[in-house]
Amino acid sequence: MTGSPMPKPSSVDLAAAYFPGSHSENEAWVRAEFQAVLDDWFGWRKGLFADDPRVSTRTDRRSGAVLHERELMSQRLAELCDALTAETPTHTPRYVGHMKAELSLPALFGWLAAMLHNPNITSREAGKVGTVIEGEAIAMLAGMLGYDPDQAEGHFTSGGTVANFEAVWRARYRLDHWLSLALYISEATGETLDVFAAAHMGWDRFRALWEAHQLSDEVLRRYSAAAGNPADVHRRISTASGRDYLGPVVLVPGNKHYSWHKAANIFGFGEESFWSVRLDAEGRLDLDDFERLVLRAQGDGRPVLMAVSVAATTETGEIDPVDRLHDLLEVWERERGWRIWRHVDAAYGGFLCSLIGGPDEAELGPVAARALKAVGRADSITIDPHKLGYVPYACGTFLTRDRSRYAVSAFDAPYLDRPELGDGKWSSTLEGSRSAAGAAATWLTGKTLGFGPDGMGALLAETIRARRQFQAAVGAALPFVRFLEPSDTNIVCFAVADDGDPLSRSNPLTEALFAAFHESAAFSVSKTTLGADYATQRARHVAAYGGVEDAAGLVLIRCVFMNPYWTAPDIRARLIPEFIAFVRAAVIGDMPTPRLDHRSVA
Ligand SMILES: *Cc1c(COP(=O)(O)O)cnc(C)c1O
Repeated sequence: MTGSPMPKPSSVDLAAAYFPGSHSENEAWVRAEFQAVLDDWFGWRKGLFADDPRVSTRTDRRSGAVLHERELMSQRLAELCDALTAETPTHTPRYVGHMKAELSLPALFGWLAAMLHNPNITSREAGKVGTVIEGEAIAMLAGMLGYDPDQAEGHFTSGGTVANFEAVWRARYRLDHWLSLALYISEATGETLDVFAAAHMGWDRFRALWEAHQLSDEVLRRYSAAAGNPADVHRRISTASGRDYLGPVVLVPGNKHYSWHKAANIFGFGEESFWSVRLDAEGRLDLDDFERLVLRAQGDGRPVLMAVSVAATTETGEIDPVDRLHDLLEVWERERGWRIWRHVDAAYGGFLCSLIGGPDEAELGPVAARALKAVGRADSITIDPHKLGYVPYACGTFLTRDRSRYAVSAFDAPYLDRPELGDGKWSSTLEGSRSAAGAAATWLTGKTLGFGPDGMGALLAETIRARRQFQAAVGAALPFVRFLEPSDTNIVCFAVADDGDPLSRSNPLTEALFAAFHESAAFSVSKTTLGADYATQRARHVAAYGGVEDAAGLVLIRCVFMNPYWTAPDIRARLIPEFIAFVRAAVIGDMPTPRLDHRSVA
C-alpha cells in the first residue's frame, strides 16, 4: 500500500480507539469484533472431525425437555446480568476510587479469544499455543521494564500477591543453596561458618566450591533448610557459626503492600523476619535506614533474603529510589561480595516504564524517571497487567532478569539447563493450572497499542497530566484541601484541614467528606490512613499548614486517575468543576453547621 504515513495518534485518539468509550461509543465495532471471534470459534469447531456423529438433532433440540432447560438458562442468565448492574461502575471517569478502571479493547478481545479455547498454560501439552503467547507477552513486558527480552524469564500469575510470593520462593531457593554448601564445608572441615558472607556468596563462588568438594545434589540436600528439616539445619548452622541462628530477614519498605505480611506467614519465616525500612519525608524508602538494617542483620548473623523496593506504592503512588538502592547494592556486590536479591514490586507502576525514553518522560519528574529506569537492574519484578495494563482480572506477572534467577523448587543446580521447562512451567510456578486469557489480553495490547512511549506511554502520561490538572484546580479553588506531597504518578491524596488544625479536628472532617462521597453517586473515591511508617512525611504534611499531630494516623481521601477517559478535555472540563462543587458543598456548603471557618474559603 502506498500513501502518506499515518499521523501519530494523540493520547485522546488512543483513548478513543482503544477503549469501549465512556458511553459505549465503540459499541457497533466492538459487537462486530466479538461476533468475528465467535464466528471463528464456531467455524473451527464445525470443521473438526466433520463426519463424527452429532450429540443432538434439530428435533431433539425442540423437545420440551431441552427447551425447558434453555429457558431456565436464559432466565437465570438475565437475572445474573441484572444483578451485576449493581456492581460499582468502575469504567466511568467518575470512579477514581481504587486501582481499577476501564478495560481496554485489545485486552477484552484477546481475553475472549483465548478464553473460548481455554488453554491451560501449566504445560505445553495443555496449552500448545497459549504457552507461546505467554512467552511472547513476557518478552514484551520484559523489554518495557528494561530487561533484555531474550534473557528474561517469567510467567503470568493470578496477580501481584502471587508474583511477590514467586520472588520470595526464588530468593529462598538461591540463598538456601549457598548456605547449604557453606554448612557442608563447615561441618566437613570444622571451619567456623560466617552465615552472612556464605548466604550471599554468588553462583561463581558456589560453583567453584561445589567442584572443589565434588558435591552432588543428594549430599547437599542434607544441609538444606528447604529440602531437609529446617529446625535441624538451623540448629546445625548455630553450632557451625558459634551463635544462635535466627533465620533470614526480608527488607521491605514501610509503604509495602499487604501481600508481604502474607508472605511472612506462608513461607514460615515469621512476621518478625520482615523488617520494615523507614520512609523519608517523601514517603519513599529511606536509604540510610536500609543500610542501617542490613548492617544490623550482618551483626546479628542473619542473611538478607531479599531487598524489596516499590514502584509505585498502593496507598499514594510514590516510587521508591530504585536507582539509588541498586547503586548501593551493586557497590556492596563488588566491594564486599554480597549478592542480595533485589525485587521491585512494580505491581501498579511497572507500566509507567513505557514513558521512559519518549517525549512524555518529563511527566514523571526526574526522581521517578531515574527510579523507573533502574527497574531492569533488579533480580526480579512484579507487574500487574490487571492494574495499569487495563487487562481483566486475574492477571499479574512475575519476571526475572534471566533463566538462572528463575530457577526454583527442584534441588538441582540452576546453571544446568532444566529439561522440565521444555514441557512448560508447571514445576516452576506456585500456581498449578493457569489460564492463557490474561497472557493473550496482554499480548494483544502489546501488539497493538504497544508498551512504548507512543502507545501505553502516551496514554499513561496523559493520566498523570489529568491528575496534575485536577490537583491544581482543586487546590486553587479550595484552600482547605491539603494535598499530600509529592505525587509521583496518577494517584493523589488529600485531607481537609483549616490553617492550624490539629489532626483530631481535620481527620473527622476528612472522614465526613469521605462519607459524603460514599452516600452520593457523583464520584467514587477511596480512603487511606497513613500510620507510623509514614511518620516523617506525615509530620511534613501537617507542618505545611501549621497543623498539630495529635492523632496516631493521618486520614486521607485517595483519588486514582488511571481512567483513560480523563484524557478527554471535555470530560476534565466537566468533571473537575463538579468535583470542586461537591467538596465545597460537603465541607462548608449546605451543612447545618459549617465545619470550617468561611475565612479560609476563597
Ligand atoms: C496491587 C498490589 C499488589 C498486589 O497485587 P494483587 O494483584 O492485588 O494481588 C502488590 N503490590 C503492590 C505495590 C500493589 O499495588
